Amino acid sequence: MNSKKMVMLTLVFIAAIVAIVFLLNKGDQSNQSDTKGPHPPTEQQPTLGNADAAVSIVEFGDYKCPSCKAWGEKIFPQLEEEFIKTGKVKFSYINVLFHGNESTLAALASESVYKQDPESFWAFHNAIFAAQPASQNHDDQWVTPEKLVELAKDNVPNIDLKQLEEDITKEGTMEEVKKDDDFVKEFEVAFTPTIIINGVMLEDPFDYEAIVSLIEKELEKKNE
Ligand code: CA
Repeated sequence: MNSKKMVMLTLVFIAAIVAIVFLLNKGDQSNQSDTKGPHPPTEQQPTLGNADAAVSIVEFGDYKCPSCKAWGEKIFPQLEEEFIKTGKVKFSYINVLFHGNESTLAALASESVYKQDPESFWAFHNAIFAAQPASQNHDDQWVTPEKLVELAKDNVPNIDLKQLEEDITKEGTMEEVKKDDDFVKEFEVAFTPTIIINGVMLEDPFDYEAIVSLIEKELEKKNE
């Protein structure tokens, strides 16, 4: 065998190795995209939609998180129109406390409103996200007990504001907030919003097409 042939064979061999490594990595990536696991329990969480829906979606969200506000404005309305209002999907929210004290204050307030009147929860929830400043640095402080009470006064008039203030300042609803925080750890929530659909944790919660195809797959399973 001459040296030219040797070089050629070596190159072909290297190319084959590179191709195999590339294909193996690609296989890994497709497995990584969404992770299937147990679904978080939602019995004690605020839940929208048909209680008997075949598909349960859980959002792990943080009132201080700009991406959660964006998700609520861009993705949630489509989901609500297409799947929640039509009774196919129910939707629950669990608090995440990734942004420190302000996350906790907002979570304490939302749990107080939910405890006092579950029906009022979503109006209050939406009001907090709406109050999140759009353009300033999200590390600037905007969540305070006064602000939360003011939001309740304007948006959920049947809530006992004194009770709400106490639940925030004296941590009256800390037990509920801690329960949520335990789920965050148990389900290894690493970023917000984290969206779980019947136990499948989405890699990209902003990919609405992927959400739709996953929901449809789950609905088909139910019909089988
Ligand atoms: Ca909760």
